[in-house]
Amino acid sequence: MRRFGPHHVGSGTKDCNMTSKHIVCPHCHSVNRLPEERFSDNPKCGACKAALFSGRPVELNSGNFRTHIERSDIPVVVDFWAPWCGPCRMMAPVFSQVAGELSTRARLVKVNTEDQPGLASQYGIRSIPTLTVFRGGREVNRVSGAMDARNLSAWIGRFL
Ligand SMILES: [Zn+2]
Repeated sequence: MRRFGPHHVGSGTKDCNMTSKHIVCPHCHSVNRLPEERFSDNPKCGACKAALFSGRPVELNSGNFRTHIERSDIPVVVDFWAPWCGPCRMMAPVFSQVAGELSTRARLVKVNTEDQPGLASQYGIRSIPTLTVFRGGREVNRVSGAMDARNLSAWIGRFL
């Protein structure tokens, strides 16, 4: 028999009055759970009290990457980049802008492939910038090459 935790909203379950999601703190990487209704109230992390939606890209490393990919209930968009890559540097402000626009709808994160060669190789990154979207721990799409803000928003919008 399959047993679900008290918070699990199974298909066909109609008695839950709100939808809660797991949000990974961009500062201390603790997994928080909160109702979607609270997303717009600038919610704070239960562990470190910092804002859960900072509106800025989060720089990740091999120690915290999987937590974000696997535990976040909002899509995670990864920018695999490197400091020596011109198109990556050009795209940085675009990525920041879109991180602000989509603050509560998608988590935008960055992986510096020079500092994190293990992650780059694990995810088969062959050129940079490469952008990937993860949902529920699974990669659902990737594109290589820089994008402007409009195209980046539109591309991420397909996975929200
Ligand atoms: Zn925190």
